[in-house]
Amino acid sequence: KGQGGVGNRFRCYSRQLDDATQERQELQEALQRAFGEGQFVVNYQPQVDLHSSRMIGVEALLRWHDAEGKVVMAPDRFIPAMEESGLILEVGEWVLKTACHQAAQWTRETGRSLKVAVNVSPRQFRDPRLTDRVRHALEAAGLPGKRLELEFTEEALQDDEELAQETLRELNRLGVRLALDNYRGRFLSLRDLKRFPIHSVKLDRTIVRDMTESAEDAAIVQAVISVAHVFKMKGIAEGVETRGQADLLRQQACDDAQGYMFARPLSAAAFSELLQREDDPRQLQ
Ligand code: C2E
Ligand code: MG
Ligand code: MG
Repeated sequence: KGQGGVGNRFRCYSRQLDDATQERQELQEALQRAFGEGQFVVNYQPQVDLHSSRMIGVEALLRWHDAEGKVVMAPDRFIPAMEESGLILEVGEWVLKTACHQAAQWTRETGRSLKVAVNVSPRQFRDPRLTDRVRHALEAAGLPGKRLELEFTEEALQDDEELAQETLRELNRLGVRLALDNYRGRFLSLRDLKRFPIHSVKLDRTIVRDMTESAEDAAIVQAVISVAHVFKMKGIAEGVETRGQADLLRQQACDDAQGYMFARPLSAAAFSELLQREDDPRQLQ
């Protein structure tokens, strides 16, 4: 009798598993289809030099829009699915090409040398063809390497450290800038940063969020920025939403910032418009 209960529970459990697997498969198929139908677009969020308040670049962020232009799902949900199916390799290369083309076009149109930052997921980072893909994207767009910044996470770097260092060195030879995204000391300590040939550390928005209320978080931000500077890296704050945060970051000698306080991610067209107005530096403060 008792066993029937266990059996039932097991069946229930395995049905839930099946449902989850099926849901995942359906999402992966939907993503593949959506990519084929051109439902992905790249948005651009401005990055600002905290001291001059000038816009210095943008981060390219992927968006999934349906036929009516409505957002289907947030990247935090669909990127992991793309990562699992491997579709991220193809989509990531498309983002890279699109972002490089845009940056080259904005440079031609405005004469300003903006940098574009592109996210590279752990799977993309492990792709042996990554450097080739980056080189091709730069060449096809006619964009100098130094105008492109690639963002990696701690997860990707700590995975196989030797391979990671080799990959970063190869990318460095292309002249591209390298940034550690969402840094909050989860897998890599401040001391570990020294071992990676990177140019900037992006402070995770969860530490930036609390820095005006919590002396501890403010101290962590300060420590990351100080160490980054000793290692000749820049500190970039993410998720800056208030003037209080921006002021404190400026006091702490943080170099650059990105967040809703300055601008939300914008379509390419909206960003072009902003660029034309931005001759006035007060536009983004
Ligand atoms: P991320 O690379 O850390 O990107 C920054 C995220 O913070 C973006 O979320 C951006 O919209 C959001 N953000 C910016 N300013 C603020 C702010 O002031 N407050 C708050 N609360 N959020 C802010 P988004 O666009 O939803 O992207 C989420 C993540 O998805 C990205 O985090 C990145 O890890 C991944 N992702 C996005 N696009 C791509 C892509 O093209 N390729 C890869 N591999 N990953 C991507
Ligand atoms: Mg990023
Ligand atoms: Mg980030």
